[in-house]
Amino acid sequence: GRKFFVGGNWKCNGTADQVDKIVKTLNEGQVPSPDVVEVVVSPPYVFLPVVKSQLRPEFQVAAQNCWVKKGGAFTGEVSAEMLVNLGVPWVILGHSERRSLLGESNEFVGDKVAYALSQGLKVIACVGETLEQRESGSTMEVVSAQTKAIAEKIKDWTNVVVAYEPVWAIGTGKVATPAQAQEVHAGLREWLATNVSAEVAESTRIIYGGSVTAANSKELAGQPDVDGFLVGGASLKPEFIDIINAAT
Ligand code: 13P
Repeated sequence: GRKFFVGGNWKCNGTADQVDKIVKTLNEGQVPSPDVVEVVVSPPYVFLPVVKSQLRPEFQVAAQNCWVKKGGAFTGEVSAEMLVNLGVPWVILGHSERRSLLGESNEFVGDKVAYALSQGLKVIACVGETLEQRESGSTMEVVSAQTKAIAEKIKDWTNVVVAYEPVWAIGTGKVATPAQAQEVHAGLREWLATNVSAEVAESTRIIYGGSVTAANSKELAGQPDVDGFLVGGASLKPEFIDIINAAT
């Protein structure tokens, strides 16, 4: 079975005081054992060390991005080696905000995923279509191309979680229906079965992101191919604890 995975992407939010409060809330919440649900929170880079040191040990941390290759003269970037050196186990790559606002192409994201894995990081790799793409019927074509650009550059999927995040659902309050999410997750799993292997398709977690809340998380979690969530806004609030409990 695929262990349920709940990620909290804090994006570019938080003061030191707010981070302190969020960590306290997370540390006090009643949650299932880490054998049942894997929880990974992703603060901005500058808060990674403090969150990692103060967070309950059964929760892990992720960076929200990293550089595409070995560090060096790349002003403003943070390398995969630095994250490994700090003991940060996970990184989110290919988030739609980076694809659309910072121009990250499918190929660039594929290179980043391959390099991060090669350095020993685990990767939450994000894919998802825009509203125009959904309305024109090209959702599967878009998410398949995004996944293919990663598949072409990696062999081992053990340390990859795929996050399906439809762009129209991110930060909009317009969550995908459980049926819409299930359809794309099943399509992505089918793509992996056909183009990678049956084993990788069966074992790779495919999580959903986009306006996930405590209220909608239970029904989404009940879909057979929804293996967890990548939560934005609600990961900054106490309801994140309820989302962690959605699958139980
Ligand atoms: P929201 O949960 O705020 O819609 O953000 C989703 C997301 O982008 C997580 O990476």
